[in-house]
Amino acid sequence: MKTYATPFTTLLLTGSLLGASFTAGAGEHGDAHGDPMAKVTISSTEVADGIWMLTGQGGNMAVSIGEDGTFLIDDQFAPLHDKILAAITGLGGSQPEFLLNTHWHGDHTGGNEAMGEKGTIIVAHDNVRKRLTSDQFVKAFNMKSGPQPEAALPVITFNDTITFHWNGQTVEADHVGMAHTDSDSYVLFTEANVVHTGDLFFNGFYPFLDPDSQGSLAGVISGVNEILNRIDDETVVIPGHGPLGNKAQLTEYRDMLQAVYREVKSLKSQGKTLDEVIAAQPTKAFDKKWGGGIFTAEQWLGIIYPTI
Ligand SMILES: [Zn+2]
Repeated sequence: MKTYATPFTTLLLTGSLLGASFTAGAGEHGDAHGDPMAKVTISSTEVADGIWMLTGQGGNMAVSIGEDGTFLIDDQFAPLHDKILAAITGLGGSQPEFLLNTHWHGDHTGGNEAMGEKGTIIVAHDNVRKRLTSDQFVKAFNMKSGPQPEAALPVITFNDTITFHWNGQTVEADHVGMAHTDSDSYVLFTEANVVHTGDLFFNGFYPFLDPDSQGSLAGVISGVNEILNRIDDETVVIPGHGPLGNKAQLTEYRDMLQAVYREVKSLKSQGKTLDEVIAAQPTKAFDKKWGGGIFTAEQWLGIIYPTI
C-alpha cells in the first residue's frame, strides 16, 4: 500500500484540514514558536442580511446574528475559539445560543468543548455524537482521536433533518447519508437563500473524503446532487473548504466528480490496480483546475480508488 506522507505531513503542520484538535492539546496555548494557529486571523464575509461566512484555519463557518441571538455553524480548532468569539462579537453577536456541526471532523468541531462549557447548545446528526464519543482513526492523515469531553458533545442530535426558526430565518439541516463521512449535513437558510454545504463541497480543489467514516466518492456525488436540487442560481454557497461559491461552481464540481468516478470505475472494473489507474491519468482533464489544492491527482486517486 502506498503512503503519501509528505503532503499530508505538510497539511498536519499547517493544520489546514482536520489536524490540530486530533493532536491532544498541541498548540492549545499558542505561541509564536511552533503553533501555526497563533498567526491565524478570522475573516468575515457578509453573505446575506445578518449572515456571514467566517474563515480562519479549518472548515469554513457560518454565523447568523440577529434579535434571537447567535447561531453558529462549525467552529474550526480549539485554539481559535477566542478569536472566533471575538470575530462574532465584532459583528454584533455574542456567545452562540446554538452551534451546529456539519460533521464530526476536528477542523469543524475542535471548538466544541469551549463552546459547550460556556453554555452553547451543540446540535448535530446522530453520527457526529457517535464518532465524538468513540475512538476514531483517519487513515489518510494517520490521525487518531479518542472520546471527547462531555462539553464537546452535541446535546441535541437528529437522524434526518432538523429545523431552527431563528433570526427570521428557517434554518434547515439535512443529513445526506454516507458521503464525505456518515455524519454530514448541509444547512439551508431558506429565506436568505444561503447554503452551508459542510465538506460535501471543496470549492476549487479535489476534496478529501473519509472512508474510515464510511465516506465514498459516490456518496459525495449523491450528497451534492441533493444540495443542487434544493438551490437556485442566486443561492450563496458556503463550501466546507475554499472560497464562497454559487450553484454553477457546485455543478461544475459535481460534473468533475462524476466524470472521474465513471472513469475510475471503468478502469477498476477492468481489474486495474491503483498504480495502473494513476498511470492511466483519469483526472488529466481536471488536474489543472482542481489538482492545485490539498491533493495532487495521484494523492486524490489514492483516496478515492478504494471507495469506488
Ligand atoms: Zn471533513
